[in-house]
Amino acid sequence: MVEASNFIEEFINEDLSSGKVNTVHTRFPPEPNGYLHIGHCKALTIDFGTARKYSGICNLRMDDTNPAKEDTEFVDAIKEDIHWLGFDWGDRFFYGSDYFDKTFELAVGLIKKGLAYVCELTPDQFKEYRGDLTHPAVSPYRDRPVEESLDLFYRMKNGEFPEGKYTLRAKIDLSSGNFNMRDPVLYRIRYIEHHRQGTKWCVFPMYDFAHPIQDALEGITFSLCSLEYEDHRPLYNWVIENCDVPSKPRQIEFARLNITNTVLSKRHLRELVETGVVDGWDDPRMPTLCGLRRRGYTPESILDFIERIGVSKANSMVDIGLLEHCLREKLNMSAERRVAILDPVKVVIDNLPDGCEEYFDFVNNPNDPEKGTRKLPLTKEIFIESTDFSLDPPPKFFRLKPGGEVRLMSSYIIKYKSVVTDENGKVVEIHCDADLETGTGVPTDRKVKGTIHWLSADKSARADVILYNRLFTEENMNDLPEGKIFKDFLNPESAIVIKDAVVENSLLEAKPGESFQFVRQGYFAKDTKNSNTFNLSVSLKDSFKA
Ligand code: ATP
Ligand code: MG
Repeated sequence: MVEASNFIEEFINEDLSSGKVNTVHTRFPPEPNGYLHIGHCKALTIDFGTARKYSGICNLRMDDTNPAKEDTEFVDAIKEDIHWLGFDWGDRFFYGSDYFDKTFELAVGLIKKGLAYVCELTPDQFKEYRGDLTHPAVSPYRDRPVEESLDLFYRMKNGEFPEGKYTLRAKIDLSSGNFNMRDPVLYRIRYIEHHRQGTKWCVFPMYDFAHPIQDALEGITFSLCSLEYEDHRPLYNWVIENCDVPSKPRQIEFARLNITNTVLSKRHLRELVETGVVDGWDDPRMPTLCGLRRRGYTPESILDFIERIGVSKANSMVDIGLLEHCLREKLNMSAERRVAILDPVKVVIDNLPDGCEEYFDFVNNPNDPEKGTRKLPLTKEIFIESTDFSLDPPPKFFRLKPGGEVRLMSSYIIKYKSVVTDENGKVVEIHCDADLETGTGVPTDRKVKGTIHWLSADKSARADVILYNRLFTEENMNDLPEGKIFKDFLNPESAIVIKDAVVENSLLEAKPGESFQFVRQGYFAKDTKNSNTFNLSVSLKDSFKA
């Protein structure tokens, strides 16, 4: 027996040891109406991961029961993202809509058993008649004779009635405290083309009816889903009990993932894409898997995050800092270091001869000596980060300042001499002398505290760099103040584009998607769409407190 590490696995162990089931067969049922996001990632890691842990199987099923807004573009993207994470469904790929015939047949079976009937309440009447906690629902068509319901249901299917005219409802319990059990609708009429079924159908099953049937037909033993389906479980079980299906899957619910400063509703994400707020589903600010990938996230960092948040039964809000922390930790070990100067200011080293070119060794990855070193040229004119110089420094400013000295990373110590400013007083050039004696050694006669990065002014390249910040300013995007919508909280500084940053020549050859640490700045990934552009994956500073 596998040792349980969460409540789902405890339930599974119970059912395995009581002999109720002898295999773990799960499914991941995304609706192909958008790209997968980090919330789905939690669900699919539980579905595929639990099956894997128990040497079971996990089906990938496109939940295309609802005919609106589905697209093969999404189907392909969903498959790609799941593979990217390292999961596989083998030949167990299905569409919910493939079961429409069988689902219809099972609905007919319910009518014949007197467990379903055709209702003709209008949507408004439906609301009016649904009752409340002290009053049962009213359903005037409940006792429609079986033959009549059967006849109407077939005619619904044959397209004889307009949308909304009739529904098929389960006959369960009009006074149930659980409103899902108050004779829920099983089928409705919709005249809409289905992306796979075309115009074959004009009646479509509701999710609550279709889903348990699909699970049972595929032989799913554990139907794992998020917490909002908990109140639907009695209906799930009712469908399984009363329809003539070959197996009895068990639904188990877990908490949805919520992340600070993030929206995870596909509806909202779609709106961001469609209104051009972001540059597509894979914009590096999006919480989609393709967005995170383009941002520089690796599967390992995402799976590490999912593992750390664990599987719980209570909804909670996870700090986005934890996700960033997981990425930072991985990249710290794996990413090679490079120099990039985002806001350059020129330094002239007066005591170096014109045209000189001296090479210094830079360590590629201090955490991985096998990555070796690379050489960078020092020339008379170099660039440093403008923030590494201050004419009027605050206390404890250990970078370059009037009267001060600073170490050029892996190279000489330079000493301030003078500065050239423009008409606005902006520093345009700093003059220094290099201490050629100390070389890359440490001087014994004095302490030089600061070390700054630099690049040769003419032996370096230029690239665009995009600094990303959180897309939303509000921590809890699930609980917005009255009258506000999610778009009111868009961060105007979520993407800051830096044109022509100064970078090492070698970065011109970086492969799309390749990650680097820009020393003293953060981790950056070469963009996969725009050439010569680097996306900030995560800053160096860790704001996350465990
Ligand atoms: P959305 O509200 O974003 O449209 P959804 O639940 O309708 O999400 P589906 O494509 O139907 O999207 O989701 C597939 C599976 O992923 C479902 O089983 C759902 O429970 C799960 N899921 C979706 N969002 C989350 C989340 N934030 N945390 C955990 N599981 C999620
Ligand atoms: Mg859904």
